[in-house]
Amino acid sequence: MTVLPRFETSIDPVKLEKLAEVAVQVGLRLERGQDLVMTAPMAALPLARLITKHAYMAGAGIVTTFFADEDMTLSRYAHAPDESFDKASGWLYDGMAKAFENGAARLAIAGDNPMMLSAQDPAKVARANKANSMAYKPALEHISNFDINWHICSYPNPAWARLVFPGLAEEEAVKKLADAIFAASRVDVADPIAAWGDHNAQLRSRSTWLNGERFSALHFTGPGTDLRVGLADGHEWHGGASVAKNGITCNPNIPTEEVFTTPHALKVEGTVSSTKPLSHQGTLIDDIQVRFEGGRIVEAKASKGEEVLQKVLDTDEGARRLGEVALVPHSSPISASGILFYNTLFDENASCHIALGQCYSKCFLDGASLSQEQITAQGGNSSLIHIDWMIGSDKVDIDGVRADGSVTPVMRGGEWV
Ligand code: ZN
Ligand code: ZN
Repeated sequence: MTVLPRFETSIDPVKLEKLAEVAVQVGLRLERGQDLVMTAPMAALPLARLITKHAYMAGAGIVTTFFADEDMTLSRYAHAPDESFDKASGWLYDGMAKAFENGAARLAIAGDNPMMLSAQDPAKVARANKANSMAYKPALEHISNFDINWHICSYPNPAWARLVFPGLAEEEAVKKLADAIFAASRVDVADPIAAWGDHNAQLRSRSTWLNGERFSALHFTGPGTDLRVGLADGHEWHGGASVAKNGITCNPNIPTEEVFTTPHALKVEGTVSSTKPLSHQGTLIDDIQVRFEGGRIVEAKASKGEEVLQKVLDTDEGARRLGEVALVPHSSPISASGILFYNTLFDENASCHIALGQCYSKCFLDGASLSQEQITAQGGNSSLIHIDWMIGSDKVDIDGVRADGSVTPVMRGGEWV
């Protein structure tokens, strides 16, 4: 039984504090007087404490943290009555939505055991996820519409570290995962805040180039992949720091290496194969192969976790369509580390990826002023889910295709041309 974090000692305390400082100063840019709603796994208590400290040092109004615990979650699957799996704590999410409407920022510490639910009944997992997604929707919309500054960072939970480094003793695995998180999050340098300034400028130059090209589609080719991803009308590329509707420039994800935009929900054609396993709510889905027609997945298979994949695709109509396409060079630091993190926050930044489900309204020109109807009319997808999976490698080429049919190479062998 896991009770309290036990391996703080194997995690570099100076770098952990820098991670907390970067989360508050770069990730959130928390403003003086702003409230903060934080969620974290119980194992991440040391980081949650440091983030709370730096939030108050930055002038936070009130920091409210909700912890989740693996044993408590598994107790539900072991002992709860069947009807429990259609329930969610809607009152809590309503309260979060209210906090965001009143100006609060949102921070999530990732680091749950990725395999936590792998031995549980996939039907129960899917029902619980669906109930949770529906209850969370009003609060999540403030995040996906980018109404507020929000941020996700991560903590090397021992259960996660054992999965990433199965051959090592737990304490050594935690140390290695911590160091990998610190490197990917650029907090292992003398001045992490300056390093993030440079990195954000580089990502901005990529998205500025893509916005200037006005491609109408991207064409991915590689082993098992021949996919044409139409881009939404009036799509806009983003990457690195961006401005929330409350006027605060934040870095929602750390680490981040991607530039991304909104595909057209009705204009995706062809086949695509995943290049890395997808860890979804405790299940590993591997060797995904899907075929799109008119933007909709009409065939899907996976060598592992196919049952879970099919349940994901059946969540709602938008779950079979794309809500994001993102470009990441194969030489990104996370890819170069060679580590499979079993965590989308990291693995999506090792590789080009697409996401099933909900699009980001900020990935449209003037996105803040568009209604839901306009976003749909321009090709933006909507769904209860948003699940990224990796389709890039050093064997994948990408061309940009313009409306007049002219083609410009964008990536060759996984690298920017
Ligand atoms: Zn992405
Ligand atoms: Zn995504």
